[in-house]
Amino acid sequence: MSTTTLKPTDIQAFTAEDFSPPDAFVNFCTNGGQPLDSIIGGKRVPGSMNAAIDVINPGTKEVLARVAEMGYDEVNLAVECGYQAYHGGWKRTSVEERAALVLKLVELFERDKDVFLACEILNGGKVSELAEGDMGVVRRSAEYFVGIARKALFGDSVAIRVGKRMNGYTHVEPWGVVAGIIPWNYPVVLTAWFMMPALMAGNCIIIKPSEETPLSALYFAKLAEEAGFPAGVINVLPGRGELTGKFISEHPGIRYISFTGSPGVGQAILQAADKHGTRVKREMGGNGSAIVCSDADPELVARMIGRNVNQHYGQTCSTIHRVFAERSVFEDFLEASQGFFKELVIGNQAKRGTQLGPVINSRQPQRIMEGIAFAKAKGADAILEGGHALVPGCDGYYLKPTLLRSPTGSNCNPSEVFHAFVNVQPVDSVEQALQFANNTLYGLGSSVWTKDLELGQRIAKQFRDGTGQVNCHNTVADGIPYAGQGISGGPGGGVSCTDTLRDYLQTKAIYVSEYPG
Ligand code: NAD
Repeated sequence: MSTTTLKPTDIQAFTAEDFSPPDAFVNFCTNGGQPLDSIIGGKRVPGSMNAAIDVINPGTKEVLARVAEMGYDEVNLAVECGYQAYHGGWKRTSVEERAALVLKLVELFERDKDVFLACEILNGGKVSELAEGDMGVVRRSAEYFVGIARKALFGDSVAIRVGKRMNGYTHVEPWGVVAGIIPWNYPVVLTAWFMMPALMAGNCIIIKPSEETPLSALYFAKLAEEAGFPAGVINVLPGRGELTGKFISEHPGIRYISFTGSPGVGQAILQAADKHGTRVKREMGGNGSAIVCSDADPELVARMIGRNVNQHYGQTCSTIHRVFAERSVFEDFLEASQGFFKELVIGNQAKRGTQLGPVINSRQPQRIMEGIAFAKAKGADAILEGGHALVPGCDGYYLKPTLLRSPTGSNCNPSEVFHAFVNVQPVDSVEQALQFANNTLYGLGSSVWTKDLELGQRIAKQFRDGTGQVNCHNTVADGIPYAGQGISGGPGGGVSCTDTLRDYLQTKAIYVSEYPG
């Protein structure tokens, strides 16, 4: 590991460049004045409910597109088309045939990267620095799972003698039709994380994007057709969770569901799917913590933590909402944090210099305000109050950052708040910090900040989270599972690792005995 000599001032929040949408995005969204249809079995399907959803720019409330909402009939149709494609040939494709199509899709994605950037920036509300970073995930995820699939065992294992006249072996095959239910905060990344392993395992897929951000999934479906995927292999069904999502989770023909979203919805999906035996893996929200040790430079670490807290304005699943700082560095850390958050440039996400853009929809401000009020009622003092922010000329959902200071041992924000919201607490020791950090039902990602890498690793291993980090946060890498514990995730192998491909495959035991005659 190389040591870097960063100065505090080197560390800045993710920042926007000016962004204007390409014509291809505008034309795609305009769609001749008609709502964008779903793509089912290679056809554009307007939906039997005759309902459409406005897809907005949260920074201006401008309607970017209208998208048709899919109902029960379309979920049924997608399952049917998926099985037709599966049994009609997709099941028998080789890994190399699937790899060629997946990599062609990536090539087309890169050709039209500006359209996807427009989806992330204008519809998702992200600043360009972060949105650009998301784009690289698509190729990395595709190439990673092509590599894993090339080494995976499909079909029959070597038979072993299991009885006097009996052999046994395993048979590994795809589930058939699987669904991915995706949230709004990282639509391109999370669609890729579902789509690449599910397709490389040999399944036909149904993507249910968030009703807030359905555009990139629909554009992926358009590119899939151009790439040459057979009709029915990739189906995209936009709609609200309580309708389209619910119908998916209640459909017995879908053999596996990969859900990413909030714990409450994940629990509901698990219950619904369990009634008919559909397996479910869930990657859900967090309430991340960071421990600042007494040997850390409080100013440097405050800015590093601040950058991570403000990644997508705190709308990142494992964002840090709780900081425990040892007393000797606490006051300096708090002061430096205040400086960082006060400096954040609040503005439209498509304007150069913006660092804190809009939250995704009209419901989020209420939820965030409730989180702030709850923490204050439990004894937290506001260093930075949060609350609505005005951005001249932009009628969007803008909020100021919130920095709270709370008494040692108080559990002031037990739930994910999902904004640039951080509650800092003084602690007497690292062990005490660990105890407080683990006093939560969540378990996605936490970090410890120290010069002592031995101590850091010891602490990182004791978090009750799926991911423990030393001097970094919001970290993911192909080959290392990203998976929550507690109400943040499971079961399943997590994303982006060898076990992920296994999640999309079923293993059957086959026994063969000689004929008893
Ligand atoms: P959400 O749970 O409200 O929605 C996620 C998806 O589920 C959407 O497509 C939605 O339409 C659908 N849905 C909603 N109700 C449903 C129902 N009853 N049945 C079936 N589907 C339903 O989450 P969100 O607000 O879109 O996203 C934010 C949440 O996602 C946060 O909690 C965040 O931490 C979490 N998240 C987790 C990860 C991770 O990898 N662990 C990654 C990104 C986001």
